[in-house]
Amino acid sequence: MIHSPSPRSRTFRSAFRRLVPPLAAVQLFLAASGPALAQQQRLPIVRDAEIEALVRDYARPILGAAGLQKAGVDIILVNDRGFNAFVVGRRMFINTGALMTAETPGEIIGVIAHEAGHIAGRHQEKLRQQLERAQTMALVATLLGVGAAVGGALSGNGGLAQGGTGIAAGGSEVARRTLLGYQRAEEIAADRSALTYLEKTGQSAAGMLKTFQRFQSALSLSGARIDPYQISHPMPRERISNLETLARQSRSFGKPDPAALQLRHDLMRAKIAAYMEGPAATSRLFRNDPLGLPARYADAINTHLRGSPANALAKIDALIRENPNNPYFHEMRGEALIRANKPAEAAKAYGRALALDPSKSAIIQIQRGQALLAVGDRDSARQAVKDIRGALDRDRENAAAYRHLAQAYGMLGDVAEAELATAEASYYSGAFQDASIFAMRAQQKFKPGSPSWVRAQDIINTSKPRKKK
Ligand SMILES: [Zn+2]
Repeated sequence: MIHSPSPRSRTFRSAFRRLVPPLAAVQLFLAASGPALAQQQRLPIVRDAEIEALVRDYARPILGAAGLQKAGVDIILVNDRGFNAFVVGRRMFINTGALMTAETPGEIIGVIAHEAGHIAGRHQEKLRQQLERAQTMALVATLLGVGAAVGGALSGNGGLAQGGTGIAAGGSEVARRTLLGYQRAEEIAADRSALTYLEKTGQSAAGMLKTFQRFQSALSLSGARIDPYQISHPMPRERISNLETLARQSRSFGKPDPAALQLRHDLMRAKIAAYMEGPAATSRLFRNDPLGLPARYADAINTHLRGSPANALAKIDALIRENPNNPYFHEMRGEALIRANKPAEAAKAYGRALALDPSKSAIIQIQRGQALLAVGDRDSARQAVKDIRGALDRDRENAAAYRHLAQAYGMLGDVAEAELATAEASYYSGAFQDASIFAMRAQQKFKPGSPSWVRAQDIINTSKPRKKK
């Protein structure tokens, strides 16, 4: 249900691969799970500067109101069309399907507020601690139905290799319910906390109410697909009606989202719909405003993905003339220029996007690095190394970026650094044996005690199979 390998989902997965090629739909492996877990589980993660920045902007005030601003909550986008949002440890996962379904920012902000209520309320604290130990990504992969044996880790003996006892969850419904499901009392508490956060930040709870009501009506339809969110968050009628009564008492109830935020939301939906579904879906989505900016953004992306690069560029340039300061239009222009085989111009477009991007996204910087690599001369390769290294300082576990870095060092003839970068890429992909091999090769070429030598040693140490206690 959550991860159905239908031909259609394959289409949008491969489309997302082009979203930030080849960073998008990064197959996030179990970097932290240690070599004991020989099997690699994959979680379809979407990396996109525009969507990440918007969702972080949604979450920031809420996390502040919840006293969680210092909790280091990470937001991760899951490439899945179902509606879901959940928290594991300090990571909040949100499905792209939820972002596309939500008509207003408030519908997502409300869900974030409710999830923040669960975190702040320390619901299932004991389970959460177990989840932290159990290597978040392994578990999340399981929850999304990728399939993994998590028994050993969950029973707290630290040895994933001893799985097979406890919960061996092949993404089964029961496992999901057990791991992420909340008690009725916790639901009510999280609803109340969410209302408090929304009130504190002067935002309406109407969006949250709308989302939950949508789930409730979907539940009552026989044969309708049930989104995972409904299963982990039980929504009996009385819960929703109590929530409605309380929400309507708020001074902010019904207050619309700021127009600028609504526009960013619509642009995000345009992007997700264009990548996930294509022109039919985007024209359906914007049928009430077919000439509005979001509709034209969707059209430009559709053309970029499915039409000629020249046509795509013309459409993107028109958007930029109208909105010269939107960083993501310049980013899209960079992508189209790559497709048009103009890497030097693409690097400039990404540079413009970077300069305009308030979140200084590592993703855009890595894209510029890739464009520079494609230029093919030594100066550009040197610049690419600088870009990618700088981006990795902020986005440490980005395996794809390490592969580009390895390529850049290769072009410069720096074999040792290329091997070390390959070791890092393998390490963060969960291929620990490869990581160890490349780290050892690299280490022989470094001066003992130098930072690169030390890093190679770290990889060798942490990639070793753990001894059984
Ligand atoms: Zn809940």
